[in-house]
Amino acid sequence: MTDHATADSPRLARPRRPDEHPAGGGADGRPLHAAALRFYWGPMDCGKSTMALQMNHNHARQGRRGLVTTRIDRSLGPQVTTRIGLAHEAIEVIDELDLRVLVTSRRAEGVRIDYLICDEASFYQIAHVEQMAELVDNYDVDVYAFGLATDFRSRLFPAARRLFELADTVARIQVEVLCWCGREGLLNARVVNGQVVREGAQVVVGDTAYTAQVRYQVLCRRHYRAGDLGPGSG
Ligand SMILES: [Zn+2]
Repeated sequence: MTDHATADSPRLARPRRPDEHPAGGGADGRPLHAAALRFYWGPMDCGKSTMALQMNHNHARQGRRGLVTTRIDRSLGPQVTTRIGLAHEAIEVIDELDLRVLVTSRRAEGVRIDYLICDEASFYQIAHVEQMAELVDNYDVDVYAFGLATDFRSRLFPAARRLFELADTVARIQVEVLCWCGREGLLNARVVNGQVVREGAQVVVGDTAYTAQVRYQVLCRRHYRAGDLGPGSG
C-alpha cells in the first residue's frame, strides 16, 4: 500500500502513528536503513521453515529484535508444524490479524521490532502482504516471507502472487527435496487414490504420509506434467 499524494486521497486524512514514517523513510523522504520485503519460495519440504528459524536466530544473535508469524498449514496437515516445532514460537496469522497493529502494539509496549519472519506466507491473505509492504515502507521493519509459490495445480497462491509483485527481492530456495527421478523438485502434486489431480479446491487438508487418501508429493516439472509418481507408486 502506498500513500499517493493525491489531494482527494482519504488516506492522507489518517493521523500518522508516532512510530510511522512518511512513505519512503525519514522526514525528508530518504530511506532510513533501507528496510526490505524479501520473499523466499520453494516446494514443500525444501527447508523453508528451517531457513526461517535460522534467519530469526541470526538476526537475534546480532541484537536485532523481531517476531515470527506463521499460518497453520491447512494443505499439508499438522506435520509441518510438529516436525520443526515452529508453531510454539510463532504468532498465528488469522484472517483478522493486522500485521501493522501487531507491530505498533508491541512497540507501544516498549518492545523493539526490527523485523518480521513470516512463515507459510502463501496461506496468508493478500491484505497481509499489503501490510508487509507498508511495514517496510512506513515503519522501517524488515519483512522476510517464506512460502510455497504454487498450489497442486501449479498455479500461484494469491498471497504468493502478491509477494512476487511487491517484494524487493524474490529468491528461490536452494532445493533439498528431489523428485523420485533425482531431478530438483519444483511442484507440489496432489495425489488422490494414487492419481495426480489438477482440479479441485486450492487448499485441501491432506497428509504427506504415503498411505493417505489425499496426499502431496513433490515432483519435477516433467513428472508433474506426466502425472508420473514413479516406480512402485501404483
Ligand atoms: Zn522427476
